Amino acid sequence: MSLNLDDVDRKILRELQNDGRASFRDVSARISVSTPTVSSRVQAMVEVGLIRGYSTMLDADMLGQVSVVLLLESKPADLDKVVEKIKDQELVRQIYVLSDSRVMCILSFYNQFKYQRFLESLASVPEITRMDNSMVMRVPKESPRAALTDEAGLLIKCYYCGHMMKDEGVKIKLDGKYHYLCCSVCERLYREKYEKLKKSAGTLKPVVQAHPPHEH
Ligand SMILES: [Zn+2]
Repeated sequence: MSLNLDDVDRKILRELQNDGRASFRDVSARISVSTPTVSSRVQAMVEVGLIRGYSTMLDADMLGQVSVVLLLESKPADLDKVVEKIKDQELVRQIYVLSDSRVMCILSFYNQFKYQRFLESLASVPEITRMDNSMVMRVPKESPRAALTDEAGLLIKCYYCGHMMKDEGVKIKLDGKYHYLCCSVCERLYREKYEKLKKSAGTLKPVVQAHPPHEH
């Protein structure tokens, strides 16, 4: 069993990344594979969470908004708290947690006062030890963060323990859906939990929560 992406998967993803409105038939014609193949590959990549959705790309400049790059510094242990404070703010468009215990975010807004109020609200967050911001003047390149180079593989989290896995692991089918487990121990425990949840949920589809990692 392989969790790796093959050339067909990558070709499909490239087509969809370039044109999210392309139908399975369009994609199949462009890359010369059958429509059912495109459809089943896409379905599998949606199920596993690689394809997260299809969105419309807008020209932010045409909307007349201002963008700012904001760098927030904190103690490493406080990074999650800082992210919690900002992640639901509408003007915060992107958040990157950096290796040097800083958080970089990209903000877009129309209203300077809203931005000022946001900055003031951050000033009262004790976990933030330093704040820098710069206004974005031009954006010469903007592309999706997922780069589909030939070496692009697939990292899936074990549905039971949450460990990242690549290539190893087992894929099981339960009620017509694939579930990914990193080892036979996780597989057994997951099946048990799944059956238990299924019984208690009656006709509802069971949702198994990932556990903290266990010792193998
Ligand atoms: Zn596992």
